[in-house]
Amino acid sequence: MKVGTQMRTGKISLRAYLHAINKAETDQCQCGLGPQTVRHILLEYRDWTEERHKMWAGRRPCVDIKRILCSSTMAVQAAKMILRTGLLEQFRAVPSTVLKYT
Ligand SMILES: [Zn+2]
Repeated sequence: MKVGTQMRTGKISLRAYLHAINKAETDQCQCGLGPQTVRHILLEYRDWTEERHKMWAGRRPCVDIKRILCSSTMAVQAAKMILRTGLLEQFRAVPSTVLKYT
């Protein structure tokens, strides 16, 4: 399944989903600020503040997760960011050149 689809459905190997299917002991993110969801990684995860700046590249950040995932351009950037976090083990082999922001 493509990462974009996974992000929209929430069926993505972040703890919130892994916990729901009994594959993780907790749904909480390692930062301690809440469940590890797509929204959390894209908008809240504090270790990724700089990454978030790069992702928006000077454009005004969109904080509406539904709008991000429904916009083809924003969804691609968001998918790249989530892959760059390295949190999704199944995608660790994706070469970093593919993940450059455009
Ligand atoms: Zn977190």
